[in-house]
Amino acid sequence: MDNKDFITVSLNLKSERIRSLKTVHKNGRLYIYISLIPEYPDCEYCGGKVKIKEYKTVTINHLPFAGMPSTIIWKRTRYICKDCAKTFSEANPFGFDGFHQSYAVLDNIAKSLHNINLTFRQIADMHNVSSTIIEAYADSFIRAPRMSLPENLGIDEIHSHMAKYGGAYLCVFVDNKNRTLNELLCDRSKRTLFRYFDKIPLSERSKVKYVTIDMWQPYKDTVLKYLPNAKIAVDPFHVIKHLTDSFESLRIMIMKRVALYSPSYYLLKYWRKLLLSDYELDNEPKYNGYFKCKLNYRDIFNMLLDISPQLKEAYYLKELYRYFNKNCNYEKAEEELSDIISEFERRDPGCYEDFIEMLKNWKDEIINSFERPYSDRKQSNALAESINQKLRILIDVSNGYANFERFRARAIYCLNDRIFYSLSGRLSHSNKRKGKLRGTYNKTNSNNS
Ligand SMILES: [Zn+2]
Repeated sequence: MDNKDFITVSLNLKSERIRSLKTVHKNGRLYIYISLIPEYPDCEYCGGKVKIKEYKTVTINHLPFAGMPSTIIWKRTRYICKDCAKTFSEANPFGFDGFHQSYAVLDNIAKSLHNINLTFRQIADMHNVSSTIIEAYADSFIRAPRMSLPENLGIDEIHSHMAKYGGAYLCVFVDNKNRTLNELLCDRSKRTLFRYFDKIPLSERSKVKYVTIDMWQPYKDTVLKYLPNAKIAVDPFHVIKHLTDSFESLRIMIMKRVALYSPSYYLLKYWRKLLLSDYELDNEPKYNGYFKCKLNYRDIFNMLLDISPQLKEAYYLKELYRYFNKNCNYEKAEEELSDIISEFERRDPGCYEDFIEMLKNWKDEIINSFERPYSDRKQSNALAESINQKLRILIDVSNGYANFERFRARAIYCLNDRIFYSLSGRLSHSNKRKGKLRGTYNKTNSNNS
């Protein structure tokens, strides 16, 4: 393939349509001078015969070749009708009329928007246009209509300043079965949730069989009101986090009561990990600089629990729940959870009051989390958490954009393979920021746009 063929292919043109094609390198840019063989179409207005009136030069930014940006300089034919004398231009095979980028560039921009790591600014720089233009393209090319509710719905939230109505969180819906992002709502209030589900027909809502949530009452109220066949499960990780936080509050309280730099202080501050997660305690003893002797994890662990009977009791209860969470099955969950609640009530050293209350309020939903309807996995929001990590990347690269609708569309486009882009010659203005009128005098981003 020679140079010209390569360029012709990238222009999506058949070579027999080209009358002349010349390329010039100048100042690090490739200029593609092109004119097309006239097709003498019928008049657009009356269907009459036409002749060529004149040529107009049209400039369109095109893809880079071997890293070198390129520009199409098109000598565009303008026809005049022999009957009605009206004029019109030959059809534009390179891009939408009025756009300064070729179809191929728009296509690249749409594909770049799918890359969650790229900011609008970076995409703009890659394509030599302004961020404002990229935003307009994002609004126009990415359409993310509401998707039907999944059979197994996960509801979670993510902190963002884009949240509306005084909230601090966006609400995230995921499809736990197909493992995709399903929807984003602008906050997690009951009002917003009810409004969303209000618009969905009962026949669709009835198909939802499972919902996983964290312990947020509006989620539960919404499911009870709108999803008549759904079984609610609370995410076990949120329960464990609540438990761990309660335990930690006691550890910190005890640490603040002991003398600074005392052995107890040292142990509570620097060896908390032994109380919080599972360690192989019987490791080879290692020299400990504080105690000036060889110790293994079990020695340190025993010293920790001896600091306070409260701490020991709290640790015992925490592990009791963790063991239940890890090993129990759905059939036994109700009985075992009841026993655990009694045990907590009987032995609470003072840090689990809220946790016990939570266990009682969400007992049914905790029991339901032991069901394993798919791939032998417990019901959880693990998927929502992993999607949230990606959303956090997108929130970071979206630094400063306050436009929730735009964020939502891009997020769903990036995280749900059923959403595609479509190039459009009509730019959407529906998502323009309101209330900030800019005069043309301070337009600073107008290069190439
Ligand atoms: Zn005509």
